[in-house]
Amino acid sequence: MSFETPTNFFHILGDKYNEAVSNSKIFFNGSSATNEVVHQLLGDSTVDFQYTLLHSLQHRPESGSIEKNPFAKPEPELTVLDSYGPNEEFKIVLNKFPVVAQHFMIVTKEFKSQDSPLSPSELQGTYIILQSLKASDKQNDWFAFYNCGPQSGASQPHKHIQFMSLPNKEDFVPFAEQLIMRSAAFLPNSQQEPLQNADIPFAHFVARLPEQHQLQEGELALYFASLLQRALTVSRRNEAEHISYNFICTTKYMMIVPRSNGKYKNSLGINSCGVLGLFLCKNEEILDLVKKDGPETILQHCGFPNTAGQGSDEYHY
Ligand code: AMP
Ligand code: AMP
Repeated sequence: MSFETPTNFFHILGDKYNEAVSNSKIFFNGSSATNEVVHQLLGDSTVDFQYTLLHSLQHRPESGSIEKNPFAKPEPELTVLDSYGPNEEFKIVLNKFPVVAQHFMIVTKEFKSQDSPLSPSELQGTYIILQSLKASDKQNDWFAFYNCGPQSGASQPHKHIQFMSLPNKEDFVPFAEQLIMRSAAFLPNSQQEPLQNADIPFAHFVARLPEQHQLQEGELALYFASLLQRALTVSRRNEAEHISYNFICTTKYMMIVPRSNGKYKNSLGINSCGVLGLFLCKNEEILDLVKKDGPETILQHCGFPNTAGQGSDEYHY
């Protein structure tokens, strides 16, 4: 068994998803959602945000626990691959309450904590799936995300890395992707600093990945570790009492955003989707709040101050 996904992975995913929806094993919340993209001017940058208003969010548990853990024994009807990884240590499972079709995740078979950093093999498994989706899905761009720690917006404590397709790229380009367009690939063990847009009012660390060749486990781990090191330094300097961050990965870049708060004004939960600019509003009041206060203010409250321009010797975790 290796890390290769089956060649028809994308078809297996689609078939499993359609079957689960028609058997009511998945509660798709997207059909009642409306989307609105705004192009917001922040300093010299135009940043894209998407507001998704849900009219019904069916059945989703607010928070899981180790005792009531849906990933200890994922439902067979939601299981896309029963074993994944060189040591068969993972499963690939559909999200039961998606807002975007075919939202799925890698879950560990054994319980591992969502507060632990991603291992080299978890990173490689994520990257290989992203490569496979890129090769077979001609319509959508996908991203993977990992909500790590108590203030990251995660709801389940059992380790899971999620995969979702992005909004139409004609309309919405995540700021992290705009940032890498102006940069060469990052060299993780050099003096080079990760990218950070000074116009965005929260700390974020972005590394462009080389696209000419597929990265190996050790390289992916170096990229992840160098971004995580910056996030930990920011958390420590701001005297955070916990380690929380969002990790976002595509075939083109990785980003880590250290987090101070999981929620804004106790009503709007922000996870990795939020820090990428995708706001999920569960009712009109929350949508009004986002528009009134502004997405940048919300993300500023949920993150830490931007550190663009601070030299590399400033960073010592
Ligand atoms: P997070 O909120 O980032 O921790 O992600 C956990 C995800 O698991 C949520 O998006 C839920 O929709 C999803 N979820 C909750 N219960 C189940 C379940 N029984 N099977 C599959 N996915 C689930
Ligand atoms: P949450 O309550 O934030 O955990 O999200 C509820 C469900 O929507 C879960 O399946 C999430 O993974 C997913 N989700 C979270 N944020 C977004 C977003 N901005 N757009 C689409 N789906 C999302």
